[in-house]
Amino acid sequence: MSIRVRLAPSPTGNLHIGTARTAVFNWLFAKHHGGQFILRIEDTDTERSKPEFTENIVSGLHWLGLDWDEGPFYQSQRLDLYRQAVQTLLDKGLAYRCYCTPEELEAMREEQKAKKQAPRYDNRHRHLTPEQQQAYEAEGRTAVIRFKIDDDRPIVWDDLVRGTLTWAGRDLGGDMAIARAAKPGEIGQPLYNLAVVVDDVDMKISHVIRGEDHIANTAKQILLYEALEQPVPKFAHTPLILNPNGQKLSKRDGATSVNDFQQLGYTAEALANYMALLGWSPPDAEERFTLDEAAKQFDFARVNKAGA
Ligand code: GLU
Repeated sequence: MSIRVRLAPSPTGNLHIGTARTAVFNWLFAKHHGGQFILRIEDTDTERSKPEFTENIVSGLHWLGLDWDEGPFYQSQRLDLYRQAVQTLLDKGLAYRCYCTPEELEAMREEQKAKKQAPRYDNRHRHLTPEQQQAYEAEGRTAVIRFKIDDDRPIVWDDLVRGTLTWAGRDLGGDMAIARAAKPGEIGQPLYNLAVVVDDVDMKISHVIRGEDHIANTAKQILLYEALEQPVPKFAHTPLILNPNGQKLSKRDGATSVNDFQQLGYTAEALANYMALLGWSPPDAEERFTLDEAAKQFDFARVNKAGA
């Protein structure tokens, strides 16, 4: 199998240290196996994505010496591909139009809160008749597209870092929105989980290496691969970078972007070296190395499960 990995940053801020560390792991894994490293900019969120953040991410990766073999690809230029996949799921009866208004969804959540239940979409529009759909459309309602998630479906995968991971469909929040609201007959802006799966299939990604904050997304994405009848890649969920109190690193903790570290006077070599050691221990216990040296030894068996 040819090894193909990707970094898929959302350009909603400067190159974050967590994203840079994910890039290091992807790069090391690709180099170790003589594979390909692909850069994909996930800029479908048009309100939060900014070209200056894309520039910052691209130049930060270059500065660190993390060069890619293909890309950058931009999700904003690939919307037709995602819409085709949404249409395929609609045609197969695996997705449907949901006409719930934001107010109805909010009321649903309030009711669940009052009953101390976890918030979820209760799948109430899964079985609308064509007449009911037409009635909603006549009212002028828009529809999001939802992908059906069977509550009783077990989802199991062998994670390269964390071993066997098991999820139940019922823990995924009900039928998942895969495209934003649009007028009758249209498919709105495709959403994150769908776009990622379509791209990872199209780009023939063999290993998805990303932070463990994406574990629930992985469970949802595995269902999408199956629904689209595509092979499921291998997954590796890396530990997050934590602050000294063991919480997710945030702006309050000081330096959080590659820029911040540049301004503190770090060299690219030192920062790349440091990031590789956040969660990975080289077998020879050597603490100073270049990325090329690290690539020779890189192996997920030596990536920690706990936060770094
Ligand atoms: N765009 C996502 C993010 O910035 C990453 C998606 C992925 O790696 O699958 O968190």
